[in-house]
Formats: sequence, C-alpha cells, structure tokens
Amino acid sequence: MTRFCTRWGKPRFVCDVHLAKVAKYLRLLGFDTFYRNDISDDELIARTRCGRIGVTCDRRLQSRAPGRIVVLRCEGAEEQVRRLAAIFSLARHARPFRRSLCCNRLVEPVPKAAAWPQVPTETYRWLSGYWRCPKCKKVYWKGTHAKRMHRKILELLSVSGKSDEKRAGGKCVESNGGDP
Ligand SMILES: [Zn+2]
Repeated sequence: MTRFCTRWGKPRFVCDVHLAKVAKYLRLLGFDTFYRNDISDDELIARTRCGRIGVTCDRRLQSRAPGRIVVLRCEGAEEQVRRLAAIFSLARHARPFRRSLCCNRLVEPVPKAAAWPQVPTETYRWLSGYWRCPKCKKVYWKGTHAKRMHRKILELLSVSGKSDEKRAGGKCVESNGGDP
C-alpha cells in the first residue's frame, strides 16, 4: 500500500460517492471531509490536488492519482474508518463533535433560546449547551445520546480495529470541553 505522510498535521479528506457513511463518521471525529453524492472521479482527483486525501474502494481511481488516494476494502463503514484511523493516526488529531455531519461546516455555539424550535421539549428543559451549523442551520446538542456517541468514537479511533480488547481500551480522545 502507498505510504501517506502524516507529519503535516490534521488530514483532510474527500470521499467518493459510495462512502457517505465514512464521510459522516470522519466529520463526527472532526475531520474536514468533502462529500457529495454526485461527485465525479475527476472532481475527486482535482480535490486531492488541493491537499485532500481521496478515499475510495476503487483501485482504478487510485491509479489515476497515486500517493493521494487511499483504497479501502469493501467492508462496513466503521471498519473502514478504523483503517483510516490506523493509517493517518486519526486519534491524535480527532476533535469530535465540531462539524456539521451533513455539510462539513464547523458548528458554532448558539444561545439556548435560539436553539429552541429544533430541540425536543424534554431535552430543552435540562440541557443548556447548543451548537448550530452556519450553513444548514441544524442544531446539535449533547443529550442522552452523548455517552453512546462517545463510545462509538472510541471504537472508530481504535488503531488495530481487530482486537476487541484494544478497542475497549480505546485511544485518547481530546476532551471537547462541552462542544456538541
Ligand atoms: Zn450543516
């Protein structure tokens, strides 16, 4: 497999049309990830020229831009992300809950009152921290699902992806200081 240099900080990605779920997970982990369900191979390659790492299961695509595209096996999205985590040391750079999962923008804190229309009444009663995507206006919060999401993030960042023991131990995820 081609070796990718990971010395220059946080990797940015561009996923091919078949990897919607991988793109979503990468955004959840805080990585700038371009994804559109109609992106052409040419556009994907063009975006790798601007510093993004192409992600695909298509070997032929890789041969068009060797060294800038990583080829994943066709397997579950979580396993695919774990492989990326191993190749690019994602645990070191992860900043979970910072990006809008649907459009990749960094989310911004919003006053509780402004979040109101999108938040279930039950949650609104007890939770005070809310963030909003500046593009799609979706509101994010850390409610009762936060623990489950945190576990998922540890799983995704597990370097080996094979040993359940190691996975359970997890990698260090930076505290996100109350971010969504
Ligand atoms: Zn958004």
